[in-house]
Amino acid sequence: MTSSASPRPFLYAGDHLACSGVDVSALAQEFGTPLYVYSGDAVRERIGMMEREFAPVTHTICYAVKANSSLALLARLGTIGCGFDIVSGGELERVRRAAPEAVSRVVFSGVGKQAWEMDAALEAGILLFNVESEAELELLAERAQALGKTARIALRVNPDVFAETHPYISTGLSEHKFGIAIARAPEVYKRAAGLAGIEPVGVSVHIGSQIRSVEPFAAAVQRVRKLVEQLRGDGLQIRFLDAGGGVGIEYGKAEFDPSASMEKYAVALRSELEGLEIHLLLEPGRFVIAQAGALISRVLYTKQNGKKHFVITDAAMNDLIRPALYHAHHEIVPVVRHASRSQQVSDIVGPVCESGDFFAQDRETQALHAGDLVALLDAGAYGMSLASHYNTRVHPAEVLIEAGEAKLIRRRETFDELFAAELF
Ligand SMILES: *Cc1c(COP(=O)(O)O)cnc(C)c1O
Repeated sequence: MTSSASPRPFLYAGDHLACSGVDVSALAQEFGTPLYVYSGDAVRERIGMMEREFAPVTHTICYAVKANSSLALLARLGTIGCGFDIVSGGELERVRRAAPEAVSRVVFSGVGKQAWEMDAALEAGILLFNVESEAELELLAERAQALGKTARIALRVNPDVFAETHPYISTGLSEHKFGIAIARAPEVYKRAAGLAGIEPVGVSVHIGSQIRSVEPFAAAVQRVRKLVEQLRGDGLQIRFLDAGGGVGIEYGKAEFDPSASMEKYAVALRSELEGLEIHLLLEPGRFVIAQAGALISRVLYTKQNGKKHFVITDAAMNDLIRPALYHAHHEIVPVVRHASRSQQVSDIVGPVCESGDFFAQDRETQALHAGDLVALLDAGAYGMSLASHYNTRVHPAEVLIEAGEAKLIRRRETFDELFAAELF
């Protein structure tokens, strides 16, 4: 079981790392490495935290599929009542296959929706399109009319609030490509209301990802609430407020209480929405799945180059790109602790032919030897979903732990599968 004292389901039983009670070495032995291991129990716990904190208001949790789009995960989230935030026709297809009952709880975000993706979403009967431009609105109206459907829409407004996070994952400033400037929104809503095939029913906002303070969320929702009231004053029947995702987690060693953190977020949002009758939509990704997962990798070699000591693992940037892409920090822990080993400072790197292929630089860990297993923690979100086949490496396998049982939810690909779409 997940200890309530730890935000991670990866805990030592004696000197052996376990995921929700299941021995990680045994998993690596059975399924090979690199291996993503997730705790389904930990995912349910995070959804439970959100459900509890938002219980006083009408709400739907629309899990952001891009954070980790595993069909097995989507199936389980659908079963416990979640909706989904999708950003492509491919993600819609995932939801249709893994959680068909949840299609009516899907919101469709993204700045570049294509006609075929709109058609698929209209046919499927999703809950809401988060429209990001007037040109998109026009195309959506056209597609809805062609299919004899009505598209329920929210405009994704850009509230121009600054959220302190990595510049690549900040989205709520007027200089970003996302959304429609909030000042212009009333005029665009007016147009939307006049378009056949379009029914404006919501307002949506998403200011970025890995945001650790509640103030930017509160500021954004405050601005959106004002807009909702103004639009209602103009006679529009706005029923949904989509507050987006973005709630951050602690990737380092610092104390982190996810439950207290979610409570703070919920209290801030609920207080901004006090007295407003509305159906709140939430689009968490990272908060739900990041800490439930780890990437397990085996040390292939160690070597000394000048002053630098290198630990070369069988996982690489193509399996987990966050350190290379955002200089993101992941805790790296030995799967078996040895009291007799000293500490050592090293660069922990993958085999891919790029100097950017590192997981950690100048990191102190227990001295690692060839054959040892390490766990890269908090890798459940934006890990496997960003994996590539660079260097013609197959994707890691994935295992889900539920109630003390390990289930393989994605086997390692074969080379035949890897090359299947290629012609020569
Ligand atoms: C990526 C994204 C999310 C999820 O963000 P997290 O930081 O993972 O919670 C939610 N909504 C939209 C529109 C997104 O693009």
